[in-house]
Amino acid sequence: MLNIVLFGPPGAGKGTQSERLIEKYNLVHLSTGDVFRANIKGETELGKLAKSYMDAGQLVPDAVTIDMLRSEVAKHSDPKGFIFDGFPRTNAQAQALDEFLSSLNTSISLMLALEVEEQELKTRLLKRAEVSGRADDADPAVIEKRISVYNQETAPVKAFYQAQEKFVAIDGIGSIDDITQRLFAAIDTTI
Ligand code: AMP
Repeated sequence: MLNIVLFGPPGAGKGTQSERLIEKYNLVHLSTGDVFRANIKGETELGKLAKSYMDAGQLVPDAVTIDMLRSEVAKHSDPKGFIFDGFPRTNAQAQALDEFLSSLNTSISLMLALEVEEQELKTRLLKRAEVSGRADDADPAVIEKRISVYNQETAPVKAFYQAQEKFVAIDGIGSIDDITQRLFAAIDTTI
């Protein structure tokens, strides 16, 4: 299996690039943010719980997120692999993902980390708010919070994959096509 963690701060382009990667490599796209938003729309218990955290730009608690991720993975029989988009966001999630994949006799192949500087992220998120309808994109204070949560809680996850020699940084500035080519090149040198 080809299991990729597509990593990066909010607004780095993970969702956009995931669409291209799943098409080329025939992978399952698993975005924890998308699953939470679908649950909010469906007014499920999980959605109600997640909403308060998401609206505030905070992380949904690990236990809830990890359980949800496991059940999403289990929905797919015999996949070629997964793109994990927006997960793991903490070291505890990364550890749980390793253990879970190992129980399925597979593992993370690599982490591709899209690198984009902060001012550009803010500009992109505010622009995305015009079309995404996401409350967490429209409010500059929530954007600030999400970026600071990323810096404090999520960025350290890089070291987890660096220690396993699975970390690859990708320049996330440029045209969408150029960035896709960089991701393809990084994957093709690994597989
Ligand atoms: P995203 O769509 O990836 O930008 O995620 C939107 C929001 O969903 C985040 O700001 C968090 O509140 C929540 N979320 C998504 N993925 C995770 C995760 N792996 N751990 C905790 N919270 C998450």
